Amino acid sequence: MNLSVIADEVRSCTRCPLHQERQRAVPGEGSTRARIMLIGEAPGKQEDMQGRPFVGRSGKILDNALQIAGLKREDLFITSVVKCRPPHNRLPRKSEVETCVAAHLQRQINVIQPDVICLLGGVSAKALLGESNLSRIRGRLIQRDRLYFPTYHPAAAGRNPAWCTAFEADLMQLRNLTTGA
Ligand code: URA
Repeated sequence: MNLSVIADEVRSCTRCPLHQERQRAVPGEGSTRARIMLIGEAPGKQEDMQGRPFVGRSGKILDNALQIAGLKREDLFITSVVKCRPPHNRLPRKSEVETCVAAHLQRQINVIQPDVICLLGGVSAKALLGESNLSRIRGRLIQRDRLYFPTYHPAAAGRNPAWCTAFEADLMQLRNLTTGA
């Protein structure tokens, strides 16, 4: 199994109702050898149009924080819990999350075998850790079947200056974790 096979399956996926209104599915992108995986919530409007993760407003906030932390997009693998845009950017439903994680995300994780998975926001933390209270676990390294590092979703950081500062500090901590600095 490799990432491009999974990406092709994502693009032709009809396992849940989200495929009905998508323009383009967004499998994710980055390095097959990434040591860090970033997992967001779901594609938004720009991502749905372009078929690429985090290219809209949240993407600008993410790119800025990555630059401050000295992390390069091409060294990471960036994706989301669900690969198709929910109508009007509603939250993905539990059944959509479970279907997409089992069919696609878990397989991407198994192929990449990252050292740490950075969970961007509450939907991602809930999907991968079963944790409903993001603020309880944010900015901490959590050992489960592998290492997880939950932080804010960039869109939330964009709405709240204090969260934005914390989000940038979290990504710096993430970089230091993986470089041993
Ligand atoms: N928000 C996400 O969670 N993922 C994207 O790809 C874009 C916005």
